[in-house]
Amino acid sequence: PTAVRRKGHPKLLLMGQRRSGKSSIQNVILQKMPPTETLYLESTNTVKTVSMQSFAQFEMTEVPSQLSIESPEIAYSEANFRELGTVIWVIDVQDDYLSSINSLVHTAGFLAENYPRVHFEVFIHKTDGLSEEYRYDAFREVRQRVQDELSDVGFGHREVAFHQTSIFDHSIYEAISKVVQRLLPQLPALEALLNRLCSTCGMQKAYLFDTASKIYIATDASPTFLKDYEVCSDYVDVIVDIKALYGWQQPAKKPAGGSDADDEGIGESVVTFERNGDTYIYAREITEHLSLICLMGKGSGIDKRVLIDYNVSLLQDAVVEVFKV
Ligand code: GDP
Repeated sequence: PTAVRRKGHPKLLLMGQRRSGKSSIQNVILQKMPPTETLYLESTNTVKTVSMQSFAQFEMTEVPSQLSIESPEIAYSEANFRELGTVIWVIDVQDDYLSSINSLVHTAGFLAENYPRVHFEVFIHKTDGLSEEYRYDAFREVRQRVQDELSDVGFGHREVAFHQTSIFDHSIYEAISKVVQRLLPQLPALEALLNRLCSTCGMQKAYLFDTASKIYIATDASPTFLKDYEVCSDYVDVIVDIKALYGWQQPAKKPAGGSDADDEGIGESVVTFERNGDTYIYAREITEHLSLICLMGKGSGIDKRVLIDYNVSLLQDAVVEVFKV
């Protein structure tokens, strides 16, 4: 396994043509820039890395379009390539993307030959500008073209994942979540825990979120809908707001408002359980960096609360163990 797999620190490289949206993605996800402000971003001419300390050291590096994957300026030495998890190629679907596909194929080929363990994923980006019906057609067309060209140069067998993205809706979070999940050695264990929770408590869907970035690092095996993700990710904000008021509570003894932030261990988590239209939402902080948000159907009323609290405490202990290993 590569270093990144052992350490579980997602390192991503963003590539693609000028103005395709690389800086915007980096800023929106890691620096909470409102999407509309990306309009005024200056074009970047140097390799730029932004990192965020969340559940893991999470790093995104933007490569300016004039540099190719093998150029020394990328400063990805042999060793760094070993730590690199994924190269994301961003295609502006609203622009003429043919020349972008040529560079994409070149990059994918270089990686396949030299660093086959590095994942390669394509973001078919700025889909917000396309009508609902045309969006999927455009996605399929780009995907088909990329696959054809990869086969032509002998890399048809390489697994390439495609995502439809836009910074103006939740799709960019969903896509980055999936990219990060592929790099997490803890994923199977986390998924198994969430599956068990859902079946024990009759939940419809459970997401484990990285609280700071709002990407989800695992979910149960039931089908995933962007709508569910949207509802749940709004509740991450609720957790963040409550946390801003009260902080991450340390267990026992300490008077509230004490500042012993370096004291580790499972704290008193923020919990909210409320009705949202037809469904119930259960939201609870699991560790300082992770939050669990669950959706429950009608009839899963408040009477279940004790059972849920109990099972979530078990899950909480298990998650802490999973990340210790
Ligand atoms: P870069 O050169 O690849 O880093 O591209 P930028 O991040 O600077 O983005 C170029 C332009 O695309 C900016 O005006 C952004 O506001 C815009 N942009 C980025 N992402 C999206 C998106 O998802 N949808 C739309 N409509 N515009 C976007």
